[in-house]
Amino acid sequence: MTQTETRAGTATTFESLDPATGDVVGVHPVHTEEEVRAAVARAREAAAWWSALSYDERDRHLSAWKGVITRRVGQLADLMHRETGKPHGDAMLEAALGIDHLAWAAGHAGKVLKRRRVSAGLVMANQAATVEYLPLGVVGVIGPWNYPLFTPMGSIAYALAAGNAVVFKPSEYTPGVGEWLAQTFLESVGHPVLQVVTGLGDTGAALCRAGVDKVAFTGSTATGKRVMAACAETLTPVVIEAGGKDAVIVDADADVDAAADATLWGACSNAGQTCTGVERVYVHERVYDEFLAALLDKAKGLRADDSAEAQLGPITTPQQRDVIRSHIQDALDRGGRAVLGGVESVGERFVQPTILVDVPEDSLAVQEETFGPTVTVAKVRDMEEAIARTNATRYGLGSTVFSKERGMEIAARIRSGMTAINGVITFAGVPSLPFGGVGDSGFGRIHGPDGLKEFTYAKAIARQRFKPLLTLTSFTRTDKADQQLAQMITMLHGRGTTIPKR
Ligand code: NDP
Repeated sequence: MTQTETRAGTATTFESLDPATGDVVGVHPVHTEEEVRAAVARAREAAAWWSALSYDERDRHLSAWKGVITRRVGQLADLMHRETGKPHGDAMLEAALGIDHLAWAAGHAGKVLKRRRVSAGLVMANQAATVEYLPLGVVGVIGPWNYPLFTPMGSIAYALAAGNAVVFKPSEYTPGVGEWLAQTFLESVGHPVLQVVTGLGDTGAALCRAGVDKVAFTGSTATGKRVMAACAETLTPVVIEAGGKDAVIVDADADVDAAADATLWGACSNAGQTCTGVERVYVHERVYDEFLAALLDKAKGLRADDSAEAQLGPITTPQQRDVIRSHIQDALDRGGRAVLGGVESVGERFVQPTILVDVPEDSLAVQEETFGPTVTVAKVRDMEEAIARTNATRYGLGSTVFSKERGMEIAARIRSGMTAINGVITFAGVPSLPFGGVGDSGFGRIHGPDGLKEFTYAKAIARQRFKPLLTLTSFTRTDKADQQLAQMITMLHGRGTTIPKR
């Protein structure tokens, strides 16, 4: 990405570049604070129309958009390939998953969010109680470059299906994908319910301050903190989908070959630039040698280059190559060994797969997000040790367990928002499952019913059906009513057994 000076002293356009070749893919406006505010104002008008539609009507509009995306998916994948460098097939897979999420969100919004009756309880038996989930208004979505379609779609589709308008700020590396989405939406729906603003970090910061009703941020933990600080000024709520340091645990009874295959794909697909990518592996000592041999064997044929057959593309941003190099160097300096690749794997644009062993647990390659096709593999005595080491980072996004007998038990003890058992990153493709993390991986959820509710506020209504037997919420309340309430509460809740003191 470079900025172009087209007006005295101000950069008003920027270029997105093909990271494999450096070719210019497109030129895009740097939207100013004023322009961002104007987009939010237009979105607010569109939101009034959109939120007044029924769930079925919104489903029909979103389905029409989904149809356009699907029919032109080749064009979209090509743009994703050029802006990120990822192989065309991987871009198709990403688009397919994004389309599936759009379908789920549109089809399930009514079921999850519409008004429903809840029990009012015995004390308030004269009330009819209902709850429904109403749209917030305008949601600002700030997205990363690594999955320029799938990741923001996890917020955009769910926010739209819940009845909000969206203003989307794509990463400066993938503005074309953002513009493509907004254009196809306008063609399909005819109202600017989804708009895009492009630019650098400042445009994202302007969106946080532009009066949106919520910000859905996906990106690094460091930027997430800045976004949250900006949103705090106006008490704008945020959902933060940040980085990860996901581990794979391989138990003694695991299908070792399948675990090695999944680890390699989880660590190296998208050139390792996946928030839920595999960065660490803890293997039971009984199968460690077998696992490492299988992993090495499978990794040997894998190369990153710019040929049409390449399974790994380039590293999208120049800074990331420095991070990857520094993590490998730190691991080696501190006694680790590279059984595949090494510092020399980090090239001008491409990074070759690297497998590290004997890496101390407090080194950068084990504690910090590397975001490259590298992985550390460690031997553990038992699953207790594997779980303890997995949980010993400040991140908690995804995780994976390979075990025939104890998968569920181990998964339940891992402190991460999502866990795949005997598969890798499978949770991301299940639209009914919530997606998000704990700790430095962020908070709030996209996808699934939780993802729909994330972009709403709960509206509770208590409607009096008949006069209460006991008048409690009035200054005319009598002593007798107080006594009757005490009796009723004792009858309802007074029977809990006393836990003996130890
Ligand atoms: P960044 O944090 O660098 O950027 C994310 C977005 O924030 C970009 O659109 C960026 O714009 C924008 N931005 C930058 N500065 C500001 C600011 N001050 N205020 C508001 N917005 C700002 O992340 P990357 O794009 O490098 O993405 C990679 C990161 O995303 C990794 O850490 C990865 O783990 C994480 N990620 C998390 C996912 C999850 O679901 N948990 C999914 C996918 C990725 P610009 O690009 O123009 O600078």
